[in-house]
Amino acid sequence: MPVHRIREDPRRGPAGRRAKGGGGVSVSTLIENVSIAPVRGPEIGRGYIHIEDGRIAALGAGPAPEVPGASRIDGTGCLATPGLVNTHHHLYQWASQGVAQDATLFEWLTSLYQVWAAMDAEVVKGAATAGLGWLALSGCTTTTDHHYIFPKGRGDLFAAEIEAARDLGLRFHPCRGSMDRGVSHGGLPPDEVVEGLEEILDATAEAIDAYHDPSPGSMLQVAVAPCSPFSVSTGLMTEAAALARAKGVRLHTHLSETLDEEEHCLKQMGCTPVDYMEKLGWLGSDVWVAHAVHLHDRDIQRFADTGTGSAHCPSSNGRLGAGIARVSEMLRAGAVVGLGVDGSASSELTPLAGEMRQALLFQRARYGPAALTARQALEIGTLGGARCLGREDEIGSLEPGKLADIVLWRVDGFAAAVEDPVCALVFGATPPVALVLVGGETVVRDGELRTVAHDAAGRAGADAHHRLTRLAADRGFTVSPEAGA
Ligand SMILES: [Zn+2]
Repeated sequence: MPVHRIREDPRRGPAGRRAKGGGGVSVSTLIENVSIAPVRGPEIGRGYIHIEDGRIAALGAGPAPEVPGASRIDGTGCLATPGLVNTHHHLYQWASQGVAQDATLFEWLTSLYQVWAAMDAEVVKGAATAGLGWLALSGCTTTTDHHYIFPKGRGDLFAAEIEAARDLGLRFHPCRGSMDRGVSHGGLPPDEVVEGLEEILDATAEAIDAYHDPSPGSMLQVAVAPCSPFSVSTGLMTEAAALARAKGVRLHTHLSETLDEEEHCLKQMGCTPVDYMEKLGWLGSDVWVAHAVHLHDRDIQRFADTGTGSAHCPSSNGRLGAGIARVSEMLRAGAVVGLGVDGSASSELTPLAGEMRQALLFQRARYGPAALTARQALEIGTLGGARCLGREDEIGSLEPGKLADIVLWRVDGFAAAVEDPVCALVFGATPPVALVLVGGETVVRDGELRTVAHDAAGRAGADAHHRLTRLAADRGFTVSPEAGA
């Protein structure tokens, strides 16, 4: 099969290189001869996208207009969509994949907590580099991360993943996670891996002050993210919500992932996970939760009424046998739903683009073939994710004025027999990625990372795995496929 490559006018250099320091120089790029699925607004069979200084200036059908000085990218054979938004991840888990392969969530967690407690900033940097690179290679332009284990004396883990995201050039929403309810206080995690409440609140406030950027076009926004009802005290849940609201940042946590969690909440809190979180002020348009698999009918309505978002992670839910979220019912009720790959220890090498297909197939397996369309799957992977993160005014669809976070999928070659390019993108194996732009800057071209050395990013993940394995062994814990099975 011939190798198809993105063609670019060589006189202008890399697409979308930003004019540095202003100086009145604008940088224009035209993507032409491309199919466009903008998610909001009509689809275009063959048209163009005009990018100006990192934002979409215009898009339309037919030939591209003359723009003096613009570089041109030939998108023949490609479908342009908004960049995908990943709403849930644990990047450090790249270093502990393939463990406890046949375990339930609680078994899997208890096999891994002590391994994770051995990580340091070097493990996090390497794992995040590989994890973020992998996301970019499957069309992700904005991702969150939920980091909730901070072993003492192991360096600045939060800074390490932020550095990796800056190197990669992805828009990043790291969530300062936390756990303060160890096993001696009725929680699931061992006491050695939890932190104290005051320590958590101080560190979280510091992370927001140091990194959160609310300005237009922001590349980095911090969220507050106590881990889950079974690893966090009521006091921390309440205080975390107050802190996030005082600082004007978003709230994230795991919720209603398994029936074991529901049983735990009923036993320890006397109510369901969603009832519990509602009592603590945790339903609202500034909150998005991971999973929301086991929602009751009234919960779906409460999520819709309050604007509470959900990160749907079908591969992880399937891997751990957690169940199938009621996504098509949630969408019908008007709830906000995004997609997430979840941490790599429970989804291994799951690519974000593939989650659109997983979501579609899971919903259809549960509710029938009309449950979720290809376009709805694309919408939750883009605009739905943007809404979870409160960024729907800037990302998630291709519209003039929005940030130029754009993916070109190669739907020629074998995929050309499928006339509908959105069907080709969602129904089958993910098509090759020709180009990924974040704010107009090239992150991936012709299936290769361009902001960092492609092969080195993969090696960084493997090195992180070997380092974590060694550090865990020093503490007497093993990283093995059987652990916890
Ligand atoms: Zn998770």
